[in-house]
Amino acid sequence: MGFEIRDSETGIGTIITIVFERRTTGSVVCPACGALVGVRDEKCYTCGRANPGLWGFGPALRKLGADFGFVPLVIGASSVLYAVTLLMSGSTIFRGGGMLSLLSPSLPILLLFGASGAIPVFTYGGWWTVLSAGWLHGSLMHIIFNMWALRQLGPTLIDIMGPARTVIIYTVAGVTGFLLSSLAGRYLGGLPLPSFLRGAGFTVGASAPIFGMVGALVHYGSQGSSMVKRWAMSYVIGAVIFGLLMPGIDNYAHAGGFAGGYLMSAFLNPMTRERGDHLLVALICLGLTLLAIVASVLHGLPLFR
Ligand SMILES: [Zn+2]
Repeated sequence: MGFEIRDSETGIGTIITIVFERRTTGSVVCPACGALVGVRDEKCYTCGRANPGLWGFGPALRKLGADFGFVPLVIGASSVLYAVTLLMSGSTIFRGGGMLSLLSPSLPILLLFGASGAIPVFTYGGWWTVLSAGWLHGSLMHIIFNMWALRQLGPTLIDIMGPARTVIIYTVAGVTGFLLSSLAGRYLGGLPLPSFLRGAGFTVGASAPIFGMVGALVHYGSQGSSMVKRWAMSYVIGAVIFGLLMPGIDNYAHAGGFAGGYLMSAFLNPMTRERGDHLLVALICLGLTLLAIVASVLHGLPLFR
């Protein structure tokens, strides 16, 4: 039982297919080296990887290779979370501040769903919010701008790295971005610095992981494609100018995300082919992200009673 995964399919269909397409006989391709192995073999005789059949789920995982539907997944999940946080804010929707803060969910509701920053991470101990904050947005312009950038950058990075490595880069860059921003907010927040250097007490938005994509593209570009590098650098320059001129831009999240994406691209090496193991790690990344949002809600709900 199972169905075709098409480009537009989201992660839900992916997971259903994997669960229903378990194989228990015959041979499969080792997710680490690509050699043929028995689906029940304890280890691969070519490379030594343990459990190369992935409990029989290896073949279904391999079918996902072409496209994960990752960009539609991020846009869909971010839009749903934005709508939910906005509706739950009710009459407490933040007002004032003009066009850029139009339709802003309230801070307590964003905290409930996993906003990150110095206060959630250090004051409340919500360390997992470094995974959830990238899926939340602070206003209508904020989500539109980020999703537009994601649609520009995502398909190119998926072409270069493959969908699974793109998910890994996106997730790790969110963590490094929000971690740097929270650390800066904790240790620099009280210092007499210009506001764009003080880090964030609270922070949300996909721009940290999106800057991870930019960092990965700059790394890939520096390996040979000067066109890709120039294109990615134009985002960096735009962000630096924007970040210095506009109040409320989380520059540490951008810088931390960029560094995380650059380093992950170097670690994953875009000049090699994506492996089955990357797909496994990507699914774990998405699972942990979902858990972080659930943990935030469960952790925060008692405060609302
Ligand atoms: Zn192998």
